[in-house]
Amino acid sequence: MESDADQPVLAIDLGGTQIRTALVTPDRQVVARRAEPTRDDRGVDAVIDHIGRLATETREEAVSAGYAPAVGVGISSPGPLDPWRGIVVAPPNLVGWRDVPLREAIAGSLGLPTFLERDTNVAARAEWRYGAARDTRDLVYITVSTGIGGAAVIDGRPLTGPGGTAGEFGHLVVDLDGPRCGCGGIGHVEAIASGTGLARAGAELVRRGEAPILAARAPDPDLVEAVDVARAADDGDAACRELLERAWVAIGAMCASIVNALNPEVIVMGGGIAEHHPRLYEVARAELVRRALPILVDRVRIVPAALGPDVSLIGALPIVTERIGDPRYDGSHRPQTAAQGGASRP
Ligand SMILES: [Zn+2]
Repeated sequence: MESDADQPVLAIDLGGTQIRTALVTPDRQVVARRAEPTRDDRGVDAVIDHIGRLATETREEAVSAGYAPAVGVGISSPGPLDPWRGIVVAPPNLVGWRDVPLREAIAGSLGLPTFLERDTNVAARAEWRYGAARDTRDLVYITVSTGIGGAAVIDGRPLTGPGGTAGEFGHLVVDLDGPRCGCGGIGHVEAIASGTGLARAGAELVRRGEAPILAARAPDPDLVEAVDVARAADDGDAACRELLERAWVAIGAMCASIVNALNPEVIVMGGGIAEHHPRLYEVARAELVRRALPILVDRVRIVPAALGPDVSLIGALPIVTERIGDPRYDGSHRPQTAAQGGASRP
């Protein structure tokens, strides 16, 4: 592995609800933090200006507190995105964002080498270098929250794919006739076990009058949230308990498919839902044993993420230090598409 930087980096975490910035030191202190609502309803330019302003404030505060100057900027953003050209392509949870050259805009306003990466890849990098997957070469990172995201490192190399979108494990099929996913596909694990999927299934139970305790908490089906389903299950709602149990089984089935395909040493599981439901790990492990090849099951561990909510800030450190000076990320590289590959053949 590459050696760590001896200078701090500026970390930007662009999320659907919050923009966060901080300085991350080589020994992984996270300082001079800013966090403000994203408010994507203001339009793309306003959000970019806001990111630039918060990052500038972070930089100034860190300098006046005596920290060494940042050597570069790492941006974590929802995907899909193009990490080589630094373009945010069309994230479902940033309204109006389509082919936004975010890297260039932030590099211009801060005057530092700047790198853009998908949020799950940033988190996976952080858990790999400093967290729950330290000292492994083959790992899968899964986040279970509003959606289900993923990333993988195989044989010591992050799995990217030609467009930078490999590792979307939330869209693995776990039920041939299952519900339709937000992406349009059928039977994806995200449609069953994400916060959005649980809320949708809970709303359906309320509509059919099959979850009295949930209906007492959230009488309007349109306003049912995943947390209502979880609370109703805690309070003894049998249908909600079944929903949650089925969600954990679906996550176990997803893990089994991942293990069969990729043979990882460790699956690191993070995200709000995973954190709040320790039973998820237990059920997922049992389903893995039931559904994956025994020789692979014996070698893989499922472990909770170790770095908490700062994972997307801390991940800026390896992103920046590994990419500074790499010509693939200087803006000139174009990922090769299947069409280009075909056209270049004689
Ligand atoms: Zn999907």
